[in-house]
Amino acid sequence: MNLFWDNASTTPVCAAAVKACCEMMAEGYYNPSALYDKGLAVKRRVEDARKTLATALNIKPETLTFVSGATEANNWVMQAGFKNKNGNIVISEGEHPSVYQPAFALKARGVDVRTVPLAPSGAIDVSAFERAVDANTSLVSVMHCSNETGSVNPLSDLVRVVRSKAPRALFHSDGVQAFGKLRTDLLYLDVDLYSISAHKIGGPKGIGALYAKHPLAALLVGGGQERGLRSGTENTPGIVGFAAAAACYHSQAPQCIDGLRRQLCTIANSRINGDPHCNSGYIVSVSFEGVKAEILQHMLSDRGICVGTGSACSSKSKDNRVLRSMGVSPSGIEGNIRISPGTETTDEEIAAGVAVIRECVETLRGKIHG
Ligand code: PMP
Repeated sequence: MNLFWDNASTTPVCAAAVKACCEMMAEGYYNPSALYDKGLAVKRRVEDARKTLATALNIKPETLTFVSGATEANNWVMQAGFKNKNGNIVISEGEHPSVYQPAFALKARGVDVRTVPLAPSGAIDVSAFERAVDANTSLVSVMHCSNETGSVNPLSDLVRVVRSKAPRALFHSDGVQAFGKLRTDLLYLDVDLYSISAHKIGGPKGIGALYAKHPLAALLVGGGQERGLRSGTENTPGIVGFAAAAACYHSQAPQCIDGLRRQLCTIANSRINGDPHCNSGYIVSVSFEGVKAEILQHMLSDRGICVGTGSACSSKSKDNRVLRSMGVSPSGIEGNIRISPGTETTDEEIAAGVAVIRECVETLRGKIHG
């Protein structure tokens, strides 16, 4: 069995992206800042890629800056997006560590950082959000779609709250798990800042971009690349590969996801975390009572099935702040795996994979109770 069901962590690089990256490395290796023809041709490829991605986001190309990935984009926002030092920052408990940790670094330096809990649906608790934002709010960061559960936040509603209560605040959203999957018309969503990453949509690793309606202070200074905002010779294979992936990524959720949820629910003492009605359709977070997720993950890996166990479990702690905030019990957190099938996954693969999961869960429970 060979089932890669961890597409929320990364995706296989699509053929078009591989071709684009290889071409840039083998033939288009010239420095895009060089003023001879070959350099200018590479520069044009970079700008074409920017246009392709900008079109997908319905933004002006010059508002998109290439960076090394969403971690960098999110850190940049937290470093440069918080301008009123007497103001406050509002984030959700569901944020990726690349937002959460820089926010907490600011908190350690005395900044008023407010974390808004999640509802059991997995989306942000909108009433708590409304209470957290006030006239002093200077920066808000709420992800578009959760990497843990696939839950989708009502971004437009949240932006409206911020515009009315804190008109000068910047609204950032981490769009990594949404780009290519949900509607990411940023003019419609009316966000100020938005992070994306290539390797979640069939592109190469180590390349992402930050949309900024108005430029932030420069992240890196030096050679002045990326309009002086992010110096460093551009990752041209990555940039061109990113655009190639975005152009061909099927923005169709895996067809099998409902069937996957239904079949998982037939395993005794299992529970789907979050509300399927406000979900991207790409991620299923499921908990098995009485099972240790890491052991299950290893057993599945031995049988050729790759699943995730949630980012917090990578540390020594068995806690998971995202699921905890949604009200998932400690045993539900301990027995939680994240399944993110590929867009091409078939119903037959789902049936076969769930049968193996059932068998492993029952074996593990037997070991504990037997
Ligand atoms: N935000 C979210 C929601 C993610 O899922 C990830 C990838 N795990 C990141 C940020 C970080 O992206 P990158 O790997 O491009 O740094």
